[in-house]
Amino acid sequence: MLTIKCGRCKSKIMRYKKIGPGKVLRCYFPRIKKLFALVEEGKLKCPSCANIIGEKDGDLFKMNSDEFTYSGRKINK
Ligand SMILES: [Zn+2]
Repeated sequence: MLTIKCGRCKSKIMRYKKIGPGKVLRCYFPRIKKLFALVEEGKLKCPSCANIIGEKDGDLFKMNSDEFTYSGRKINK
């Protein structure tokens, strides 16, 4: 499980079940275990500083890789 945090203020954005070793480019809704961020007008926003972390696209968020950090373990498959 990964904990994704805002790259600007370090607020928690979500807990995410990442499968596979690749970069976190997309976050699929069914794998989001807890969402702390705001979703406004299709944008995934930091709840503290309103930094835009990603953008809703169908059943996933496309992530702005410069705007977040993460810690935790990916699940190998
Ligand atoms: Zn923030």
